[in-house]
Amino acid sequence: MRGDVPVVGREARDESRGTSIPMNENVIDGAAIAARVLDEVRAEVDRLKARGITPGLSVVLVGDDPASAVYVRSKESTSRDVGMAGETIRLGAATTQFELLAIVDRLNASDQVHGILVQMPLPRQIDADLVLRRIRPDKDVDGFHPVNVGKLLIGETDGFVPCTPAGIQYMLEVCGVDTRGAECVVIGRSNIVGKPMAALMMQNGAGADATVTICHSRTRDLSAHTRRADILIVAAGRPQMVTAEMVKPGAVVIDVGMNRIPDSTKKSGSRLVGDVDFERVREVASLITPVPGGVGKMTIAMLMRNTVRAAARAAR
Ligand code: NAD
Repeated sequence: MRGDVPVVGREARDESRGTSIPMNENVIDGAAIAARVLDEVRAEVDRLKARGITPGLSVVLVGDDPASAVYVRSKESTSRDVGMAGETIRLGAATTQFELLAIVDRLNASDQVHGILVQMPLPRQIDADLVLRRIRPDKDVDGFHPVNVGKLLIGETDGFVPCTPAGIQYMLEVCGVDTRGAECVVIGRSNIVGKPMAALMMQNGAGADATVTICHSRTRDLSAHTRRADILIVAAGRPQMVTAEMVKPGAVVIDVGMNRIPDSTKKSGSRLVGDVDFERVREVASLITPVPGGVGKMTIAMLMRNTVRAAARAAR
């Protein structure tokens, strides 16, 4: 970033496309940015269809975890909206590892299937790592296969980048955040968010070139790190743990957390909050993502983008 505060008004220019990104004061509208990604995906799906190729995404859901069912439904409906083919395979909670691997093998072998996603978490009797390693790397649109993880780390761009970090990097770029040389602090070291996020931001090139620090549950004096951050990315799964005092004035704050907390004023008895105390931190930050309506929307959009890329590569 140039100095402490990025110059962003009510609208940020997306120079690569010559258009502007809608924003409510300093709140990044993840839904609007995701909608734009999906428009691009739809156009690419149409181009591929004109060549006789219909991109196909297969999602496998094992068991009856309610949150997973919600995520899967939304992946299913978005892929349909952008014109892709595909199916959701719903399996019982007692499915064996052998049965699941046989399904992955069938999807790996199918010409109609360009992207495969096995929804996590899996029931206890199934080794999730084994399943993730069984998916062909060129169909691994979640980007979790060790081949894709390795490609991300060494800076090879022909792999698949995990959808949440890819979506965050995209948001930063279209909002005009200058990442080069910026202090980027990531809270969380999971394989699906924290580690790939850090790997992306430390790469050489546009949208990256940051100086990255990863914090985690064993970090001493978390605030000392977060207060240095020009870009603070929080993926800890701890409701509203980042307070205004932990944020440097003018920082860009990206909240990945999705936590349900009790709220007796809601019909459901609960509400969704992020890992950041949004109302207080937005007064300090130059830019911030809300929950919901921020990172979550980008994650699904990037899954669609990865799938259409997989189809385009298969067609070459
Ligand atoms: P995880 O539980 O696998 O990892 C959490 C990480 O946070 C760990 O590495 C841990 O060391 C760190 N951590 C926990 N408490 C901490 C503390 N007090 N101080 C410092 N570090 C701490 O979680 P995950 O899968 O990475 O997900 C993180 C959050 O992001 C969850 O709320 C999850 O629901 C959400 N999520 C959202 C999306 C999306 O699309 N919006 C996608 C993935 C995950």
